[in-house]
Amino acid sequence: MSSPLLEQLIESFRVLPGVGRKTAQRMAYHVLERGRDGGRRLAQVLAEAVERIGHCSQCRDFSETDVCTVCASGGRDRQQLCVVESPADRLAIETATGYRGLYYVLQGRLSPLDGIGPRELGLALAARLAGGEVTELIVATSSTVEGEATAHYLAQLARQHGARPSRLAQGLPLGGELEYVDRGTLSHAFGTRGEMRD
Ligand SMILES: [Zn+2]
Repeated sequence: MSSPLLEQLIESFRVLPGVGRKTAQRMAYHVLERGRDGGRRLAQVLAEAVERIGHCSQCRDFSETDVCTVCASGGRDRQQLCVVESPADRLAIETATGYRGLYYVLQGRLSPLDGIGPRELGLALAARLAGGEVTELIVATSSTVEGEATAHYLAQLARQHGARPSRLAQGLPLGGELEYVDRGTLSHAFGTRGEMRD
């Protein structure tokens, strides 16, 4: 490689998911040949984003402020709390449905092998439910084995605190991640959610 910096640039692009050596090379050449302005903007926004975007203290979604705009909004129904696995799932529900309640982002699901048990996932949520404001806990974890186990645990947690657990209706693909479900299917599954029973 004729430039050590170019080599570093290529390697840096490889931190992105799905980007291998070839694609990283193409990106680096593109920026240098035709996209220097875009490259400057990308570098600036990227640096700012990784410094300034943290997590909302209430829902754990990404936020630049201690409490995110959704949690801080006076226009949301505080009796409904929808639990999702990731920020991408939260965005999918917000975009596809007319849901006006609040969210809680797990940032993961049960994974005993990685040492993520119910306790690790549910501690902050339990404190939230103990507040007594939430009457319906909408469990929107994925329909994978771990997602179902997480849902079961969350339903128990909700009942312990006097909240009604509900689960998105069937029709979502088995083993599927919410963020990849099309809008119509997600909207329908959300709208026809049913109470969870043992
Ligand atoms: Zn929030």
